[in-house]
Amino acid sequence: MGRKIADCQDFPSESGCTLTISGEEDEVVNAATQHAVSVHGHEDAAEVRDWLRENLKDEVASI
Ligand SMILES: [Zn+2]
Repeated sequence: MGRKIADCQDFPSESGCTLTISGEEDEVVNAATQHAVSVHGHEDAAEVRDWLRENLKDEVASI
């Protein structure tokens, strides 16, 4: 319940990254921030975390 998804395909990048990260909101924001830093060369900054948090999607539960 209430899991969130960060889908790298939704984010602008030159690498064509297709990673998706799902989990609780804080977990996804932390993991996606680390991924953005290590893979996409972003800084671990509050703006990056806020931006990621705003762009999370709700996981669609399979019934
Ligand atoms: Zn990526």
